[in-house]
Amino acid sequence: MNLIILGAPGAGKGTLSDLLIKELKIPKISTGDMLRKEVKENSPLGIRAKEIMATGALVSDEIINELLKNKIKQSECKNGFILDGFPRTINQAEELEKIMKELSFKLDLVINLVVSEELIIKRLTNRRVCRKCGANFNLFSAPSKEKDTCDLCAGVLYQRADDNETTIRNRLQVYMKDTQPLINYYGKKGLLRDLAAEKGISDMAEKFNKIMIENKNM
Ligand code: AMP
Repeated sequence: MNLIILGAPGAGKGTLSDLLIKELKIPKISTGDMLRKEVKENSPLGIRAKEIMATGALVSDEIINELLKNKIKQSECKNGFILDGFPRTINQAEELEKIMKELSFKLDLVINLVVSEELIIKRLTNRRVCRKCGANFNLFSAPSKEKDTCDLCAGVLYQRADDNETTIRNRLQVYMKDTQPLINYYGKKGLLRDLAAEKGISDMAEKFNKIMIENKNM
């Protein structure tokens, strides 16, 4: 199964895809995680991406498409994958289509997570991430048991540099301008399914499973 999880920053793309990795036993491809790894390693790409990411703008299609292409061709993706944070522009969607055609992969569904702007800001300003394993917590909806400490691996929790209110508002504007057109793009292809993602993770899982049942013949 090949899926795209679409949605504004903070809509829950990472949360849903982490759940689906376990349920569907396929890897997630998160271009944001890939970029953050490059930044952490101080690679030439990471150095370039760091500044762009800090403002909430998008890294160029050229760089992202190349990253994606290399990843999708790896053997771990041969039985399917969940795309989290890619595509973010029409150009990326078209490139994805080309790569998938080359590899004889079929895109099964695009899940569009729908959340209000108010909740997005609340979620993102309260998000904390584990420096060691990448697990996500939230000060208001899903706090760690011990302050600043990951429940899973005891790593230190930190706030992403782009999770401040100014950058969040910019990311939302970028989302509306560059990414929202994908809703229409995939809608026209008959692949888009909306999922109201304002409640917790179990509600999201339930709604996702319902979508899967309704579309089992696709
Ligand atoms: P995310 O973790 O998906 O919220 O992404 C964090 C940041 O990484 C974004 O605000 C962008 O600067 C960059 N980024 C991640 N994925 C992409 C993409 N597909 N295209 C361009 N920039 C991206």
